[in-house]
Amino acid sequence: MGALMPLEEAQKRVIHLAQRLPPETLPIAKATGRYLAEDLPAKRSQPAGDMSAMDGYAICFEDREGPWTRVGECKAGSPPCPPLKPGETARIFTGALLPEGADTVVMQENVNAEGETVHLMTEASPVKGRHVRHKGGDFDVGDIVLTTGTCLDARALGQAVIAGHGELPVFSLPKIAILSTGDELVEPGQKTALHQIPASNDVMISAMLSAFPAEARNISRIADNMDMLCNALDSARDCDIIVTIGGASVGDHDLVGPAFEKLGGNIDFWKIAMKPGKPLMAGKLGDSIVLALPGNPGSAFVTATLFLLPLIRFCAGATDYMPRQQQAFTTTSLPATTRRAQFLRAKVDASGITAYDSQDSAKLSVLTAANALLCRPAHSPEQKAGTSVPYITI
Ligand code: AMP
Ligand code: MG
Repeated sequence: MGALMPLEEAQKRVIHLAQRLPPETLPIAKATGRYLAEDLPAKRSQPAGDMSAMDGYAICFEDREGPWTRVGECKAGSPPCPPLKPGETARIFTGALLPEGADTVVMQENVNAEGETVHLMTEASPVKGRHVRHKGGDFDVGDIVLTTGTCLDARALGQAVIAGHGELPVFSLPKIAILSTGDELVEPGQKTALHQIPASNDVMISAMLSAFPAEARNISRIADNMDMLCNALDSARDCDIIVTIGGASVGDHDLVGPAFEKLGGNIDFWKIAMKPGKPLMAGKLGDSIVLALPGNPGSAFVTATLFLLPLIRFCAGATDYMPRQQQAFTTTSLPATTRRAQFLRAKVDASGITAYDSQDSAKLSVLTAANALLCRPAHSPEQKAGTSVPYITI
């Protein structure tokens, strides 16, 4: 079984087992949440020409005193008005192209229009270029507007569209099998005898993945039986990642490791210097990466956050795939840690971060109440209340 592996080393090794999935091209509407597989150059400049940022009158700054003769009307979606000559102005609206000869927009509130004649109000003094959005002021054709590995969230999709794209090169989705084991597990909502429990982890882990670029399928409630477990693992070999839940310790009924080895899987590591989540196993079964999570809900959640989600993000092409840490002041003192890193279920609010008294990884009530994992690296000294500590939002 060997010694406990330091957390950071284990996290690197899991990523090292993986590779990015091949790219595919998708219509924009189907690319939400995917990661971009190439740098994206703009196909157009934005704005494409000089445009008005206000409703008002387009003038030439040289000719800023007025009065002007109104010769046209420019609105968004219309081709440009004819060029302005000296002494002329054009009514203009937000998003309309400036006519040739105009370089400034005077707000409509600063003029008096009498018929076709437009007078500048006495207190108003136009500023050259004011209320004009210049051609290419946002980006120019050919500029890289999004880089490889960017998550295509709402803003990035908007950016891609304004840059002229209707389809995007993205990394393919990792296929994931979620396999839960244990004679005690019962389908959600079914009656449980005293010796049984509802299989909550399957639903919890699937729900964690639902917000992710992944195609997950559940192979639920495999009995603690060697043949059944081998069959279930074998049936998931088409997946990029096989996640097992439970049965990963070294009890007589913890059969995930033995089944995995019987099928010819290579264990990369087993047992990590962390709490919760010590009995985490990772390895390869053919081309599939197998991640065996411990069965206690708190342990399953923490190890999924620290190992599974980064692995999925990496395979799906993310540049930024590790969990993001933030800092908050601990409201209580925290004892020194040993060689095991700790992830305390905690609550962050305006007063700081407070770890729950009970850190029992079997208690879903504590996990559910928490909104953060307070990170305590291995060999941390005692930390007094008021010290800044890292945490991960959950
Ligand atoms: P194990 O890792 O199989 O020894 O399981 C540790 C604890 O987690 C036991 O109390 C199991 O009953 C519980 N457990 C295992 N799998 C699940 C699951 N899918 N949903 C809820 N609890 C589970
Ligand atoms: Mg079990």
